Amino acid sequence: MKKRRTVALIAHDGKKAEMIAFVKDNLEFFKGFDLVATSTTGKHVQQTGLKIKRFLSGPLGGDAQIAALVATGKCEAVIFMRDPLGMHPHDPDISTLMRICDVHNVPLATNPSTAQLIVKGLAKNLLQKIP
Ligand code: PGA
Repeated sequence: MKKRRTVALIAHDGKKAEMIAFVKDNLEFFKGFDLVATSTTGKHVQQTGLKIKRFLSGPLGGDAQIAALVATGKCEAVIFMRDPLGMHPHDPDISTLMRICDVHNVPLATNPSTAQLIVKGLAKNLLQKIP
């Protein structure tokens, strides 16, 4: 049996509504993946009926936990709806997550438009690792 692939979802407070709308718009796609999220984001996404593994809340280390998944090859893509207008006490963790995605060449979306491209690419299996 083929291993299911994992996608991570994170949304800052000012972007949680956008994340839920995005997940609802792409519900069939997300049903085909194992989902992980930071705690509060995951709680919201659960309302769509999807199963999702919740890590710690972002400010308590959830972004760092997802960075560890990426670093160990256990996460295929990260959809991170960032709020560019907000202040975040865990900025160092956010930078770490983005850096780790770059280190390991893992697709990272930080806004809905890019997230939609990732969803389309993964759905068609277009996102190949470029060595
Ligand atoms: P949250 O964390 O899903 O627990 O709100 C997200 C974040 O702020 O990084």
